[in-house]
Amino acid sequence: MTQAPNVYDAEPIPEAARAEIDRLLQSGDLFRYTAPQDAPVALLEREFAEMMGSRYALAVSSCSAALFLSLKALNLPKGARVLLPGFTFAAVPSAVVHADCQPVLAEVGPNFRVDLADFAAKLPDVDAVIISHMRGHTSDMDAIMALCDAANIPVIEDAAHSLGTVWKGRKVGTIGKIGCFSFQSYKLVNAGEGGILITDDADLVARAVIMSGAYEHNWKKNMGLAESFVKWQNMLPLYNMRMQNLSAAVIRPQLGEVARRVRDGRAGHDRVAAALNLSTWLDVPPPLEGEQRAPDSIQFNLVDMSDEDVARFTEAAAARGVKVQVFGMSDDNARAFWNWRFIEGLPELPQTRAMLMRACDVRLPARLTEDELDYISSALVGAAEAAKGAAAA
Ligand SMILES: *Cc1c(COP(=O)(O)O)cnc(C)c1O
Repeated sequence: MTQAPNVYDAEPIPEAARAEIDRLLQSGDLFRYTAPQDAPVALLEREFAEMMGSRYALAVSSCSAALFLSLKALNLPKGARVLLPGFTFAAVPSAVVHADCQPVLAEVGPNFRVDLADFAAKLPDVDAVIISHMRGHTSDMDAIMALCDAANIPVIEDAAHSLGTVWKGRKVGTIGKIGCFSFQSYKLVNAGEGGILITDDADLVARAVIMSGAYEHNWKKNMGLAESFVKWQNMLPLYNMRMQNLSAAVIRPQLGEVARRVRDGRAGHDRVAAALNLSTWLDVPPPLEGEQRAPDSIQFNLVDMSDEDVARFTEAAAARGVKVQVFGMSDDNARAFWNWRFIEGLPELPQTRAMLMRACDVRLPARLTEDELDYISSALVGAAEAAKGAAAA
């Protein structure tokens, strides 16, 4: 192979989506609450909950909307403090701000996971926790749940990019009180945009359903929880973050693809990780014990490289056709906490900053062939050699 593979193109949407989309276009039935029952969005919610082994699911317009509604459904007081990792996507602290809460950032270690000492130190001062399993990296959920349960602090799992990841036999997103997932195009299931939240808590999901925009008696079409719904009807504002039927029609046939995408994505990731770890200059942190990853990208650290070496490395990789993003080295990266200037009293996180200055991100969609994966590995290892060779010369 002499040409770098395209890592941005999505997989085709399964053929089965077409007939359903055609039916919806024919009838114009795009709103989830028009059909008396079994609208595509309602069916998706049932299928997704069943796939995850959760009682309830609520499909919404994005994972950010799911996070926002989760915080609102927890009935937190205005100004409540919400602890989240300092390494996540800007939409997560944004959802906290949008929900009238104050983000508190926990340090993240060189293995991309929450620093438990810093987390434990900050926990006594917060009202809720969001754990972002960033790029599918699962933090130690046993330790986190033990600390949060002891302090009676609810945990929302931001599993936007972690569908299919398993922690000690449990599906990520089912460990905390609420799990949130994204269907944006760069995630494992692609609807362009979309999100879903899952929980076993009836009263909490009823609040989220109403606030998502189930006005009047539309909640009857979500799930049979009349007691909770009657209690909360007209007591909560409507934010109108519903999913529409076309999105559900695109998502439902992809649920059957999840297991294959997880298997292939993991195999591809592990193949590239093994190759990169042979290089002195590249380090892919191993999974935590008990974590089964579901990656569609790879993150690795540059070892013993100066800022100039890092710049030479990314240039050399680009010259080989592989775009590497060093999280902290671009001007406006949405995953670099110092760019979240909308947070009042934005803290400094030295450990997270040091990680972001050397942590690299390369997309590895599950559809890549072994040849394509090997091309990427060689390009990255070659680029590291070139960067360090130039430094030595
Ligand atoms: C993509 C992503 C989000 C946001 O998801 P949207 O559906 O685009 O709102 C939140 N958190 C993480 C970790 C993500 O990767």
